[in-house]
Amino acid sequence: MTATLTLELEDVDRYADTLSTAARAIVSGDLEGARTSIEPIAFERWEGHLRSAAKASPATDPAERRPRDVTDPVRAQVFLRDEMTCTYCGGRCIPQSVLVAFSDLFPDELPYHRNYRRGAIHPMYWALAPEADHKFAHARGGTGEIANLTTLHTMCNVRKSDALATELPAVDRPEHVIGWHGLLEAYPSIIAMGDAHGKRHSAEGYHERWMRHFSRKTEQAP
Ligand SMILES: [Zn+2]
Repeated sequence: MTATLTLELEDVDRYADTLSTAARAIVSGDLEGARTSIEPIAFERWEGHLRSAAKASPATDPAERRPRDVTDPVRAQVFLRDEMTCTYCGGRCIPQSVLVAFSDLFPDELPYHRNYRRGAIHPMYWALAPEADHKFAHARGGTGEIANLTTLHTMCNVRKSDALATELPAVDRPEHVIGWHGLLEAYPSIIAMGDAHGKRHSAEGYHERWMRHFSRKTEQAP
């Protein structure tokens, strides 16, 4: 079954809730429980429609949109500082590397494609994975420093298009988002279960690198 999806902000909660339930099963070593948990979102495919982004450029490879002057360790610090919450919609984020760990474990149910190819990647990547975006663009003197970066869902980054992040409405953090850590607490267990039962999408050392980035203290960041 392949679903053609138009992402709404409700999808953020739908995917985050489903993956949270699956993560609890994984942490307790329950592979079949995790498989059952993800059934409501299994086998969905991203078909490249964002209803709220009609005026934005067509959804393209997020890697192409990603600021070049921002390193992965800095990205991790920005996400941690913003408590894994999108500053555009206030919704929960789950880092791409954690989503990849889910895809490693369930490659058919939760497909990953490194270039976000339409029809080949699960829409949860667009809905949940955060980007570190400039508040002030390069053209306006903005830099790749942490203070000039903010956390946005990949899909919200497309939605906001060329608006400055500083011009976006301030979003109150919803109650259910307080205490949210992007499922980082389950990340090692998801990796381990994927290594035992799944199929690695990522290069050698990918998860280890991101584990290191996320375990660094904020004050050590450049
Ligand atoms: Zn968002």
